[in-house]
Amino acid sequence: MTFIRKDLTTVVASKYFDSIQMRKLYDKGLFHFGENRAQDLLKKKDELKDLKIIWHFIGHLQTNKVKDIINEIDYLHTLDRINLAEFIQKYAKKTIECFVQVNLTEENQKSGILLPNLSQFLLEIKKYDKIKVIGLMTIGKDDDLEATEAAFRMLDALALSYQLPYKSMGMSNDYELAIKHHATHLRIGRKCLDLIT
Ligand SMILES: *Cc1c(COP(=O)(O)O)cnc(C)c1O
Repeated sequence: MTFIRKDLTTVVASKYFDSIQMRKLYDKGLFHFGENRAQDLLKKKDELKDLKIIWHFIGHLQTNKVKDIINEIDYLHTLDRINLAEFIQKYAKKTIECFVQVNLTEENQKSGILLPNLSQFLLEIKKYDKIKVIGLMTIGKDDDLEATEAAFRMLDALALSYQLPYKSMGMSNDYELAIKHHATHLRIGRKCLDLIT
């Protein structure tokens, strides 16, 4: 199954690629790119400024980096705490479309709102008018497709119940499961290498 489909958005997780490789992917028709680190995003955006790229931020965002990147991106996939929302509210010059990251595999090292806190978080976030929550995002569990599928199924159900249209889930190893559970945005890194080698 291909991860390039008309009915969903493939965000290239471009942390693995330099701007020359990204240019090649762009020539293959991919124009959504997601970076994990603020410095990399700024550097690559500058190197690729002649292209019509839609920029996503998919990594953990430190509050001290918000000022540098928040007005440089089109989508944030990793809104995961109120403190971050405070900084976005302070520095954003326009409304930022955000996915709320949910930790559905309950791994401690992972960012994301835990399920019992989600409804309260979605209520609290409404008071920040620079933030528009458009969907939910989650990351599967490494080497555990069963837990990953349970997480994707849950994200789909949660998005439906909160009437959020978009679901960012699925990476190189689990995107087929994500598609099965109605992902709207895949975040694909390593597999994109196949397209340009
Ligand atoms: C790196 C990364 C991906 C993509 O990883 P692959 O397994 O290489 O497809 C997706 N989401 C996030 C948040 C990432 O950091």
